[in-house]
Amino acid sequence: MPWIDEERCTACGICVDECPVGTITLPEGEKAFIVEEDCIRCGKCHEVCPSDAVRHDKDRIPLDVDANVTWTRDTLSHYESDPEKIAFLQRTVRYYEKQSTVAERTIGRVQELLEELRERQPT
Ligand code: SF4
Ligand code: SF4
Repeated sequence: MPWIDEERCTACGICVDECPVGTITLPEGEKAFIVEEDCIRCGKCHEVCPSDAVRHDKDRIPLDVDANVTWTRDTLSHYESDPEKIAFLQRTVRYYEKQSTVAERTIGRVQELLEELRERQPT
């Protein structure tokens, strides 16, 4: 999912005009903002931004990891005994393992779609 780095955005409006589904807003005096629910992840905004302000998900990975670890630490503090804490951490690990499996299998299926499409391209 693309997101806009407000520090880099100059509010030029190019991405707003180019977004095919009109999901980027630019209120007067503010920076561009992507309404994620409607974004079709076409990448056009990233392509046209002259300020490199449209960032990729991967740029946010370290921040997301930090946020997950912070959430885990905060939640851990609500448990009093070590066995409860251990059980909670084990549940958390299982949760992320499942997310990881879903992501890996989804990537595999999407790559198949990509290959099918590539094979149909004229050489
Ligand atoms: S094109 Fe880039 S700099 Fe211009 S409004 Fe969009 S994000 Fe901001
Ligand atoms: S990725 Fe495409 S649909 Fe999403 S905000 Fe950018 S231009 Fe719009």
